Amino acid sequence: MAYAYDDQNIFAKILRGEVPNDTVLETDHSLAFRDIQPQAPTHVLVIPKGPYVCYDHFAQEASDAELLDYTRAVGEVCRMEGVAEGGFRMIANAGRDGVQEVPHLHVHILAGRNLGRMLQ
Ligand code: 5GP
Repeated sequence: MAYAYDDQNIFAKILRGEVPNDTVLETDHSLAFRDIQPQAPTHVLVIPKGPYVCYDHFAQEASDAELLDYTRAVGEVCRMEGVAEGGFRMIANAGRDGVQEVPHLHVHILAGRNLGRMLQ
């Protein structure tokens, strides 16, 4: 599938500095910031800086440097937020059925409360 990136999405505006954000981590190819409507005591979004709609798009088209940077950034945020001991959940919604609101790849990192069972 070919993905079309909408550069007017809110995370593109955050990356261009047009919309403020509460940054947790910035690396060469990735940005992590707090979700504006947190669903748990820790709720951080990690995005690649490149124009990728979802994980599939990213995995197909990102460079090795971007892939490595992003993977490491997700892990680094987990360490910085101290979520390993209590546990955490990572979610990347995609497309219509995944009910993805913002069409720029983002991993949610949620922690700090019992998140309940997601899959039965
Ligand atoms: P999705 O449903 O696409 O997986 O999640 C999008 C997330 O982006 C939601 O959790 C929503 O609260 C968050 N979000 C939407 N607009 C903004 C914004 O302007 N700033 C921040 N920090 N988060 C946002």
